[in-house]
Amino acid sequence: MTAFIYEANPARIIFGAGTIAKLPDEISRLGLNRVLVVATPPQAADADALAASIGSSCAGVFAGAVMHTPVAVTDTAMTVVAGLAIDGIVAVGGGSTTGLAKALALRTGLPQIVVPTTYAGSEMTPILGETRDGTKVTRSDPRILPKVVIYDVDLTMSLPPGLSATSGINAIAHAVEALYARDRNPMISLMAVDGIARLTRSLPLIVADPGDRAARTDALHGAWLCGACLGAVGMALHHKLCHTLGGSFDLPHAETHTVVLPHALAYNAPAIPEVMTLLASVLGPDPATALYDLAGRVGAAQSLAALGMPENGIAVAADRALAAPYWNPRPLERGRLHALLTRAWAGTPPLIEDVAQ
Ligand code: NAD
Repeated sequence: MTAFIYEANPARIIFGAGTIAKLPDEISRLGLNRVLVVATPPQAADADALAASIGSSCAGVFAGAVMHTPVAVTDTAMTVVAGLAIDGIVAVGGGSTTGLAKALALRTGLPQIVVPTTYAGSEMTPILGETRDGTKVTRSDPRILPKVVIYDVDLTMSLPPGLSATSGINAIAHAVEALYARDRNPMISLMAVDGIARLTRSLPLIVADPGDRAARTDALHGAWLCGACLGAVGMALHHKLCHTLGGSFDLPHAETHTVVLPHALAYNAPAIPEVMTLLASVLGPDPATALYDLAGRVGAAQSLAALGMPENGIAVAADRALAAPYWNPRPLERGRLHALLTRAWAGTPPLIEDVAQ
């Protein structure tokens, strides 16, 4: 890489254990007096505890966030926003909660403080995917980017091992694609390699012992780096396939990323020899197979069939991914894409096909 453009996203990152105690100071720092705390229904108790800890700076709680940021839920939340005359948003949860906070910020221009409790990485990106009538539309806008992110390892200790594993591999996917993005740059590549290393070594430890604080700290640090990668450079085939599969067959987000990543990397491998060498330095000599094996070691599903995708969906997904493709380092060919999806559907190991074949 001899020429590049690097543009940093503005963000204030607070990382550690017990860092949630800094939330009142961060609210004051932004000059906020009436924030709305948002969460999913299962994390309503966390949201209430957070609301209690910030006292009169909290105007209310909306614990109605759901996966894929449906516009109908955002509309409901907007009536709460208007009724309470809030001046800021605090999100506590995973990518689904962050998605709602981002949707509200986009509509109101209000600042967000995000407290992530999974490894999905959305808090570091100016990207929002919203669902209307079953179709997910993704956009990028600087107004979507949170002002402050508070990473508190304590809040990740309760993340179930299965979700820890797949949300961690979702983060790895952000970093892998960042290494071969069209607008890749040396700064983001450094972050990507470190993020991948941290998550690949910590996820098996977390699954073996969900109370392993050192591994949890390593994973959250890696998730921050991987999220920053997704926020800074473009996506390619892997994210395109996951968005297509998720939208077409209502497949679970992190689990779909976990199944697809080894196959998408194998597809691109012949076109990105330098990236494969870099990945080999952290994953071993065969990075695509190493990612497939990682999914197996952490007990994640390794096939789209296991996630509920019908076999006749393979051709549909190949057509849809080709109809509106993202830029990709290797040209997209329908036959190879169909073969990739067939392997991902069946759960067979990834196969690197030479360009000449
Ligand atoms: P999620 O936010 O849907 O969380 C899954 C479940 O786990 C929820 O019920 C949640 O309440 C629960 N949970 C979260 N943290 C927990 C904890 N510490 N302890 C116990 N339970 C906990 O899952 P996710 O994988 O974080 O997010 C997926 C969503 O994020 C998708 O909609 C995806 O599109 C989006 N996403 C967006 C971006 C972006 O940049 N825009 C990036 C990554 C993911």
